[in-house]
Amino acid sequence: MQFTHEHQELKRNVRRFIDNEINPFVDEWEEAEIFPAKELFRKMGTQGFLGVTKPAEYGGLGLDYSYSVAMAEALGHIRCGGVPMAIGVQTDMATPALARFGSDELRREFLAPAISGEAVACIGVSEPGAGSDVASIKTTARKDGDDYVINGSKMWITNSLQADWMCLLANTSDEGRYRNKSLIIVPMNTKGISVGKKIRKIGMNSSDTGLIYFDNVRVPRRNRVGEEGQGFLYQMLQFQEERLWGAANAMQGMMDCIDVTIEYARERKAFDMPLIDNQWVHFRLAELKTEVESLRALVYRACELYVGGQDVTELASMAKLKAGRLARIVPDSCLQFWGGMGYTWENPVSRFFRDGRLISIGGGADEVMLGIICKYMNILPGKKKA
Ligand SMILES: Cc1cc2nc3c(=O)[nH]c(=O)nc-3n(C[C@H](O)[C@H](O)[C@H](O)COP(=O)(O)OP(=O)(O)OC[C@H]3O[C@@H](n4cnc5c(N)ncnc54)[C@H](O)[C@@H]3O)c2cc1C
Repeated sequence: MQFTHEHQELKRNVRRFIDNEINPFVDEWEEAEIFPAKELFRKMGTQGFLGVTKPAEYGGLGLDYSYSVAMAEALGHIRCGGVPMAIGVQTDMATPALARFGSDELRREFLAPAISGEAVACIGVSEPGAGSDVASIKTTARKDGDDYVINGSKMWITNSLQADWMCLLANTSDEGRYRNKSLIIVPMNTKGISVGKKIRKIGMNSSDTGLIYFDNVRVPRRNRVGEEGQGFLYQMLQFQEERLWGAANAMQGMMDCIDVTIEYARERKAFDMPLIDNQWVHFRLAELKTEVESLRALVYRACELYVGGQDVTELASMAKLKAGRLARIVPDSCLQFWGGMGYTWENPVSRFFRDGRLISIGGGADEVMLGIICKYMNILPGKKKA
């Protein structure tokens, strides 16, 4: 995949925005364990950053998915993981299915404001009793006249404390576990929704993560995205973009870990020489950079095929798996070369060490990615390729 002048221009604009509107405030937001999503998203919407791949008729730029990858990479310049993750939820996790399968009315009501930044979106798949095994979710949306009545709970929901609407996965019938689900857009101010206390985490601190309860929450049936019973399939498609986005977004943070470590190891002396002059140190840093570049090649290949209309579930799962693995290996190796300084809270590498740990868990754990890859390789006992 070749980035054009337009991709580079987008990346430069995003970088400028981050330098002026995000990075100066990141430490404050990390400390507060929340960032002002509504205010920031409105600014981003004005710049056109929240809908690069979304249809122009709803306010998007109508560009292909390679621009989402370019955006995700550029957002990696944010000096924490929480804020880019929250932006990614808005652009590439809560909205792809709505943009693709939602009715015109639904897209005007919910997608357009998410693109302009007037509304904050969240995605509700995981539950207290079901994360990796998405098909076993228990939340129900039962038909009652022209409405769905929703009961259940959603756990770990990014942006949920500030969200205006949720793209909710719920069971809408008693059909088999892959055919009984639908995606429904739920305004978060609907009667019967309550937000449990904010979940404290070891990283991604500036991103709010909530536990949400639904008690007889009534929404019109026209809020369903696409066909009833297709929710599981739509969510699996939506996951492809989430996973590619996550892998693309992680790369810059890893490169930054390597670069700041090089700077530090040039300055820091031990045994009468700069740390960087130890072969173990400079070889290790070179190896880490090689690993990140191999991830980039995988992401670009998956992206190119996806833009060409191919199913990239296997490659997107590989990219997500590799990103998760590297997000553990790269900051851990770099942190080591900072000695005691690496073990301090404010260190940029230690923040990535904490934030990046999520990549192996969120949006499908490493083991789930391995399961999908095995399915595509036809080596998963008892399961054939999807
Ligand atoms: C900070 C944060 C933000 C999140 N944001 C969102 C959000 O916005 N929306 C949303 O819907 N969800 C969100 N999640 C939830 C996330 O997607 C889940 O945590 C994840 O899918 C794992 O589910 P679980 O936590 O229930 O773990 P479980 O399903 O209980 O799995 C636990 C562990 O078991 C192992 N495992 C699971 N399956 C297998 C297998 N088949 N073989 C071998 N080992 C296996 C894995 O190591 C896994 O980590 C978020 C989570 C976090 C921590």
